[in-house]
Amino acid sequence: MKVAIYARVSTDEQAKEGFSIPAQRERLRAFCASQGWEIVQEYIEEGWSAKDLERPQMKQLLKDIKKGNIDIVLVYRLDRLTRSVLDLYLLLQTFEKYNVAFRSATEVYDTSTAMGRLFITLVAALAQWERENLAERVRFGIEQMIDEGKKPGGHSPYGYKFDKDFNCTIIEDEANVVRMIYRMYCDGYGYRSIADRLNELGIKPRIAKEWNHNSIRDILTNDIYIGTYRWGNKVVLNNHPPIVSEALFRKVQKEKNNRSVDRKRVGKFILTGLLHCGNCNGHKMQGSFDKREQKTYYRCLKCNRITHEKNILESLLAEVQQLITSKEYFMSKFSHQFDEPKTIDASALTKELEKIKRQKEKWYDLYMDDNNPIPKEELFAKINELNEKEKEIYETLSECELEEKESIEEKYNRISKMTDFKQQFEQADDFTKKELLFSIFEKIVMYREKGRGKKISLDYTLK
Ligand SMILES: [Zn+2]
Repeated sequence: MKVAIYARVSTDEQAKEGFSIPAQRERLRAFCASQGWEIVQEYIEEGWSAKDLERPQMKQLLKDIKKGNIDIVLVYRLDRLTRSVLDLYLLLQTFEKYNVAFRSATEVYDTSTAMGRLFITLVAALAQWERENLAERVRFGIEQMIDEGKKPGGHSPYGYKFDKDFNCTIIEDEANVVRMIYRMYCDGYGYRSIADRLNELGIKPRIAKEWNHNSIRDILTNDIYIGTYRWGNKVVLNNHPPIVSEALFRKVQKEKNNRSVDRKRVGKFILTGLLHCGNCNGHKMQGSFDKREQKTYYRCLKCNRITHEKNILESLLAEVQQLITSKEYFMSKFSHQFDEPKTIDASALTKELEKIKRQKEKWYDLYMDDNNPIPKEELFAKINELNEKEKEIYETLSECELEEKESIEEKYNRISKMTDFKQQFEQADDFTKKELLFSIFEKIVMYREKGRGKKISLDYTLK
């Protein structure tokens, strides 16, 4: 029998003795030993509540079950697995589908007996009830709003149609536009440039005449697109079918954070954040505006070289023009850059996870050891620190599953479509100019000899 043990403790519970991970683990190991079972994997989840199944170890467990690596899932108590009847029902269904039995070390849920089957039937009935109750609660909230004279939402959000009974249908054409907006944002476009592109393509929003900065931002921040329904302060997860995956949604939110940090740091100057000094090992360059001369220039804070924006942009635009129009030039510039794939080394990360796990076991053993002089709070703090690291790694791993690396060929195709780049750039305001440049470049390094009128040369990496 290949047994997987699953132990979980939430942040609140960590302080309570009986729930501690070491205690759960000891009990589960002893249970397996008494049954003559072999433990093939231990899934230890700390600092996670049971409110949903979105927990790293739970996800891993389900993955391994689907691979057929597990015969039995053993927990200390049912509530370690989940506190939601609905989630339990879904879990049990998955277990059944992959021929996995489920056991609790302290309670009787043996699904191979009549009693066990009755239990499952009850769980199913309760899950159904929970589901209906959930829908009812939402409806109740909406009815209340209607009574108060507020119509729910006024109209359905773009991509969806909610009828008067609150049933939801996806409008496929609109859903595709939503997905495109998410995709473009990940590709480096900003709100404004996405809006422009959609307007150019003749794609219309539902009510307004055209897309703009705000309507794009609203779509990119609305978690209705991953199935969440918000009504006042009520939040219902998985209320309706999603249009974008949770991974993509999270990626966009993270990217948005990054960009706003960038923006804050770089302020209003077009090239700050992008431009670095090649003479000083890529030191950042800072923009300023000279009121007397009415000119913007950039200064390297290290070597103090000052260069006028106009001169840099001139070289830069010429460069972009060449990249767009000549595939040969593009390839000669970049084929070497993309030769070595910059993919995330998943196996190194997995090894790192193993290491963290081993380290955590050491802390657990200390925890169980009555003669150990380290205070328990300190051990918790150390374990929590490792948990944070673990979470980060899981996040990176899930991102790399999502990320399909753009090949150099695809990069060229994307960039070569910007045929009117120069014209667009020249007509744009500073904000959009910046977005346009950020959509192409990741970093620009400028080299220049000291002294007036010396030629500028540029080196850069693409987004
Ligand atoms: Zn410098």
